[in-house]
Amino acid sequence: GLADRLQSTLQKIRGKGKVEEADVKVMMREVRLALLEADVNFKVVKDFIKKVSERAVGQEVLKSLTPGQQVVKVVNEELTALLGGEQSKIAVSSRPPTVVMMVGLQGAGKTTTSGKLANHLRKKQNKKPLMAAADIYRPAAIKQLETLGKQLDMPVFSLGDQISPVEIAKQAVQKAKEDHNDYVFIDTAGRLHIDENLMGELKQVKEAVKPDEILLVVDSMTGQDAVNVAESFNEQLGLTGVILTKLDGDTRGGAALSIKAVTGLPIKFVGLGEKMDAIEPFHPDRMASRILGMGDVLTLIEKAQVTVDDEKAKELQKKMRDMSFTFDDFLEQMGQVKKMGPLDEILGMLPGANKMKGLKNVQIDDKQISHVEAIIQSMTKYEREQPEVINASRKKRIAKGSGRPIQEVNRLLKQFEDMKKMMKQMSGMMKGKKKGGMKF
Ligand code: GDP
Ligand code: MG
Repeated sequence: GLADRLQSTLQKIRGKGKVEEADVKVMMREVRLALLEADVNFKVVKDFIKKVSERAVGQEVLKSLTPGQQVVKVVNEELTALLGGEQSKIAVSSRPPTVVMMVGLQGAGKTTTSGKLANHLRKKQNKKPLMAAADIYRPAAIKQLETLGKQLDMPVFSLGDQISPVEIAKQAVQKAKEDHNDYVFIDTAGRLHIDENLMGELKQVKEAVKPDEILLVVDSMTGQDAVNVAESFNEQLGLTGVILTKLDGDTRGGAALSIKAVTGLPIKFVGLGEKMDAIEPFHPDRMASRILGMGDVLTLIEKAQVTVDDEKAKELQKKMRDMSFTFDDFLEQMGQVKKMGPLDEILGMLPGANKMKGLKNVQIDDKQISHVEAIIQSMTKYEREQPEVINASRKKRIAKGSGRPIQEVNRLLKQFEDMKKMMKQMSGMMKGKKKGGMKF
């Protein structure tokens, strides 16, 4: 990835007082190749390289950074700008309901994302959305939305597949007014390719309900095609934003970079899986870091914060910083981590997590948790606070006390060590970020 490429060129230009043109050239060649490999539009790449080079050459090197790091910092800042700079939020109409029309090709994720977004707004902003089933063409499309509605306990408006989408949309907005829903998500039909009939119908829906948002849902796996799709939909309908789905797949972020640069449309949310909570607001700075290979520590920490209550999160962060994390904290954390979601998903967000061998041993499931509790409860207070004192005879005693085999005690001690390592790495990243002057 980009990070690896940069890392090796960084070695070569260490310890200089000024960023020289030749150094920047070497680095920019790597950046250029990495971006093209990530399927970023070549014109976007060209402009980007030009901008970064101009900014980077001749800069005085900041005290806290090496010349190489300084170039990376410029790359990161320009990537962030390319991705839209600030986070772009969903509109709020001054006269509710806010009408959001979801458009896109078949299979992009419109229906799924309607459910995810409605759920997100209800959970995070206390909104009361209504979802409307206006895809009357795809077999079972209405049923799919109704099933999501049941699953989420969210109202779904439908009139079957014999009434026109325009009429469905109009009546859905009317219904939302009567029921005091503050958002209406109109789930429209898609085709495999852009076609005139579909566009014509979407224009009529737009005309009829005057949406506050027309969000294009695109599959990030389609790379450059996603950019073409975004351009055509925007020309014909006048979009207000883009939602990039399937970013959990094997995609390198090229679409995200190109779409914003080519169409000027903000990316508002990203989809990260099939489940209803697999959606996140799009943060350009975090995406830039992700592309640069720094992992998504910020998202991870935010996730931890909504799950763990505020007081505890602060305490945990402090403990992570000064490394005073004990087995008692571990015990409590296990419960919290379970609430955060699947552990492999969480670990995937850590920088270099896939390279840490030890992490394979970190496994937390419901069955094991009571065993782990038993083992920790068999430790003395001293042992919980200073696990390094646990020698062979202490291990034997703990195993006996908890009724668990000694191998399990060993495994837990190993897990604890790994977790501490992981936290050390995370807190190192946090400090590094602050020094780099990036937003946190
Ligand atoms: P639509 O035709 O645009 O309405 O697309 P659907 O909402 O029916 O989604 C098509 C398929 O993509 C479904 O199997 C979804 O579960 C899947 N999908 C949607 N969003 C995501 C995502 O962010 N990640 C992954 N992995 N799958 C997704
Ligand atoms: Mg659909």
